[in-house]
Amino acid sequence: MLDLGATTLILKLVDVTQTDNCGNLIPEFHRSVLEVLREPLESGQITISRAARQADYPARFQLIAAMNPCPCGYLGHPANKCRCTPDQVARYQGRISGPLLDRIDMQIQVGALPHDELMKESDGEPSATIAQRVENAATMQIQRQGKLNHLLGSSEIDRYCQPDEEGEQLLRQAMVRLHWSARAYHRVLKVARTIADLAGEPRVRRNDVAEAIQYRRAMREQ
Ligand SMILES: [Zn+2]
Repeated sequence: MLDLGATTLILKLVDVTQTDNCGNLIPEFHRSVLEVLREPLESGQITISRAARQADYPARFQLIAAMNPCPCGYLGHPANKCRCTPDQVARYQGRISGPLLDRIDMQIQVGALPHDELMKESDGEPSATIAQRVENAATMQIQRQGKLNHLLGSSEIDRYCQPDEEGEQLLRQAMVRLHWSARAYHRVLKVARTIADLAGEPRVRRNDVAEAIQYRRAMREQ
């Protein structure tokens, strides 16, 4: 349950994600502000309470956030030297709490590119091809279960996202080794299901699970 001040802050954060405003890195927000994102990220709604009244509002959004590896930004940089102490790095990264991180499905480390690499022409797929693949995956999801993967509840995840035996084994090992919560387990399964859908695969295979596990490891193993 949130008061009005916290709700305003959520709206500001959502606004940041929707306006391509890359100036605000997520650790620049106060930790208590970031924590209020946990409720809408989980339930897709916010409950606002004021005096004796309370009201629920829909608040489903996609959170895309960026952060540096440390306050100066050069930790792990191939050419520039990071001047932060281990303590400063830990404090900076600690502004994103474990429970909030748990609700972020894909965490990807992007290394600094050398200048000539940056100037090269991209040899990736055209956006239209990728858009078509995403559309096909969404159609598969609606036909299979009547909704998109991110809206599946836990019993639906057990039913629709079950991987093959090797995938299941890999996921169980990762869960123990990386100390994942039940929430993380279910979220990884949904990501694995989506990876399989994008490849047009009816079953979730070991490779899909392995890729989904990789997306959750960046922040935990530094
Ligand atoms: Zn640094």
